Amino acid sequence: MNTISRRHFLKLIGASTAVAASPTLLNAQTGPARRVVVVGGGFAGATAAKYLRHWGGGGVAVTLVDANPAHVSCILSNLVLNNALSLSQITFNYAALQQKYGVTAVQGQATGISGGKLLLANGQSLSYDRLILAPGIDFDFGKIGVQDPANLLHAWKAGPQTTLLQQQLKAMPAGGKFVLTVPPAPYRCPPGPYERACLVADYLKKNKPGSKVIVLDANPKIIAEERTFTKAFNETHKGYVEYHPGVIVTAVNAGARTIAYSENGQQKTLRAGVLNVLPPQKAGKIAFDAGLVPAGQNWASIDPLSYESTLIPGIHVIGDAQGTGQPKSGHIANAEAKVCADAILRAFAGVAPDPAPTTNSACYSPITANTASWLTAVFAYDPNTLDPVTGKGVMKAVPESFGEAPAATQDNYEKMFDWAGNLFGDTFA
Ligand SMILES: Cc1cc2nc3c(=O)[nH]c(=O)nc-3n(C[C@H](O)[C@H](O)[C@H](O)COP(=O)(O)OP(=O)(O)OC[C@H]3O[C@@H](n4cnc5c(N)ncnc54)[C@H](O)[C@@H]3O)c2cc1C
Repeated sequence: MNTISRRHFLKLIGASTAVAASPTLLNAQTGPARRVVVVGGGFAGATAAKYLRHWGGGGVAVTLVDANPAHVSCILSNLVLNNALSLSQITFNYAALQQKYGVTAVQGQATGISGGKLLLANGQSLSYDRLILAPGIDFDFGKIGVQDPANLLHAWKAGPQTTLLQQQLKAMPAGGKFVLTVPPAPYRCPPGPYERACLVADYLKKNKPGSKVIVLDANPKIIAEERTFTKAFNETHKGYVEYHPGVIVTAVNAGARTIAYSENGQQKTLRAGVLNVLPPQKAGKIAFDAGLVPAGQNWASIDPLSYESTLIPGIHVIGDAQGTGQPKSGHIANAEAKVCADAILRAFAGVAPDPAPTTNSACYSPITANTASWLTAVFAYDPNTLDPVTGKGVMKAVPESFGEAPAATQDNYEKMFDWAGNLFGDTFA
């Protein structure tokens, strides 16, 4: 990152985005504060906690529970791999939410729900009028035959795994193979794996001549920004990326860094210098434990007008864990959180939720150490198309809203830090 964009980025992280007060504030009831407990202080949960207090004022008491004292952002975390950013630059604690918005932050692992209370691993329980679950994702190791899940290196939840992947990449000998698997969709951040392949290829070209990124994709083709990544693999990083679609991973020995898979009906094995496996994904465990995921499915079923569970009233699920079909991105998690916070405040005031919510998503993908592309889309509630499982209306992509960068450029790379700084500020500051 150059000095100008770094300065701008840091300034934006510290900035709090001005937002208009929700109309629900006008309706907020007098009397004892209503209690909302939020599990998960990532892009979805932290935004919901902040905006419940911002819009609900003294009418709502908000407790935010996260297993960790601070959240490490997956967004921009691929830039830690090539040393463009440090982990500390994408780590956010909850001090601003506490001090500026009066959110009560509790560090703890939520383990379940019983008798209308949220249970924590330390034995504590928290009462609520409404509960929001925003636990992000979990992995399905069994589906790809992972023999030793504890050794598996995914770096798809940012933190210590990101550092480990950076260290393994650095230690990989020249001429080595960096093997990256892409899980079947839907998974967290559709362009993310292809972005990682590009950044690692760029790093290898400069630091480990003769090395290769081998991408084993469970999907039949590149599922996001296909034109951009095809060009990146075949031209920008020519000779450094081998892309294999339609691959079924059958066994993984993470410790030995070996992987077995079938491709076009042929069984193959590879030994990697670095083995970076992104397992198939599903809603965070607490969503299953709380009974919010329909049998045989992977994501919590909710009503998109309020993000309230269609299985258990009074509990809402937002972010990657919910199953509306909206992309699993931090940007849209932030938007879903605002729709949910607004609907809860309206419910407390005896008012129906906004009947026509919209959300939007944006992803910037670095392609090299100084160029990036982007992708954007808007989603709108359609009451006339009913979800076959929930019987509720659906969030539909607005066709004319789809946008994709015509090319990966340096200007996009600079703007990526403005976009991320705004999102980080709006969520955590
Ligand atoms: C490499 C990469 C790049 C990405 N780039 C982009 C991008 O450019 N743009 C974009 O919009 N998105 C991007 N994403 C996707 C984005 O990071 C996720 O969609 C987003 O983090 C989802 O937010 P969330 O709040 O649902 O979950 P998370 O951000 O994962 O937050 C979940 C939180 O819940 C906590 N938690 C979970 N279970 C419990 C429990 N039982 N008790 C207590 N706490 C719990 C966790 O500690 C965590 O802090 C990227 C992701 C990756 C991996």
